[in-house]
Amino acid sequence: MSAHVSHATMLAAVTPRPIAREPCGRIRASVPKRAPLRSTAIRLEKARAPNFRSRALAEDAPESNIVPSPSDAPEQLGPLKPTETLKLAVFSTSSYMRHTQTPVIEEAFGAGNVRWFDVGLTPQTAPLAAGCNATCLFVNDRADAETIDVLADLGVRFIAMRCAGFDRVDLDACARRGVAVTRTPAYSPHAIAEHAIAMMLALNRQLMKGHARVTQGNYSLSGLVGFDMHGKTVGIVGTGKIGRCAAKILLAMGCEVLAYDVFQSKEAIAMGVKYVDTVQELLPRCQIVSLHCPLTDDTHHLMDDATFDLMRRGSMLVNTSRGGLVDTAALARALDAQKIACVAMDVYEHEAGLFFEDKSEETDATPGSSLSPDWDLSLGSLASRPNALVTSHQAFLTAEALGNIASTTVENLREFAGGGGAGEGGAYVNEVVGH
Ligand code: NAD
Repeated sequence: MSAHVSHATMLAAVTPRPIAREPCGRIRASVPKRAPLRSTAIRLEKARAPNFRSRALAEDAPESNIVPSPSDAPEQLGPLKPTETLKLAVFSTSSYMRHTQTPVIEEAFGAGNVRWFDVGLTPQTAPLAAGCNATCLFVNDRADAETIDVLADLGVRFIAMRCAGFDRVDLDACARRGVAVTRTPAYSPHAIAEHAIAMMLALNRQLMKGHARVTQGNYSLSGLVGFDMHGKTVGIVGTGKIGRCAAKILLAMGCEVLAYDVFQSKEAIAMGVKYVDTVQELLPRCQIVSLHCPLTDDTHHLMDDATFDLMRRGSMLVNTSRGGLVDTAALARALDAQKIACVAMDVYEHEAGLFFEDKSEETDATPGSSLSPDWDLSLGSLASRPNALVTSHQAFLTAEALGNIASTTVENLREFAGGGGAGEGGAYVNEVVGH
């Protein structure tokens, strides 16, 4: 997908939809009563309470004292009318995003209509979106009911997620307040799959330890013995876009790939993946297990004490999907008891507020302290293990993925700016809705 989207293509795809007026006179977005969605719009089957971790939030929001007055909220919600202009607040921006995404989004909507904020979205930072009718969020932005209420009171009625996952968005609250939510469903499954494989190989061949030794003039090999990937059995949990990409690479390396998914993929079977009926059946048969399913009620703490017990002794767990799939305390116990040999994780269940941030210099306020106030003991002790490899949610971070995220985000925002969803029944093409 190109990082640039032609205006003509997008305008041709936009079909205006009627706006329903409720008895109270407030015009609402049509999200709650949409007709059946096109296949690309996905429905959250089971709402789950977002797995938020409470943190000190006040310092995140330099303007957190700006409290919107309900009377400031516009009367009308729903897609933009022809007389309105898209005004966008982008949260959780960072230098790599600004380099790749700012030019694309500003070219599409005009630099004067887009405001960029480094801070993540929280109830305290949400007032920064005052004057905007749409917001653009990233994976760890906190879009719970409290935050949605603040945004909706300001007149924000569209959220464009710059990521595939939406487990931190309270979709029911969005529906209640007439806020539509879109996502970028597939920006580069290769990016995440390749990162998972890179982590597997780095951990197996102890590349971090080997490199550190060489930088210190230690050229010995003792303690660095790995294993051939060829001939090993790798278990994939979730054979969607990313899981299938990972399976393809692993098969090419000569691995046997077993998989568990609630839906079996014909494409995966055709490439040589063998399905089992349950995760419980999968775990004892694999030297490596890689998680690629979404975080839902069903998959929360998929890996807990009971499932770690089922893993082969000496095996490896790789999680590039969502932190909440793994019970971190149970993982630490499994490593301590040497039930599993090692773990690679790009995601962590309490990563919100930590990952994507530089916390290394946040010690000045506490004289004598060398620890950030946000220091996370569980993460710190996990990451310092020689048999753990942790990255801070960077699996998606390739130039191609960032370009694709920008262009899909622009497409999603153009639907909103163009007066409504281009999907069936007026749904946004990449919309996600609650039940
Ligand atoms: P996808 O929708 O294409 O595939 C998900 C697969 O998981 C589907 O085949 C689905 O049937 C399966 N699944 C659902 N519930 C399951 C269950 N209970 N048990 C087993 N399988 C189940 O999604 P994708 O694009 O392949 O992305 C997978 C996940 O990767 C996302 O949900 C997201 O959490 C994660 N992700 C991580 C990053 C990163 O940077 N680390 C980036 C993008 C996505």
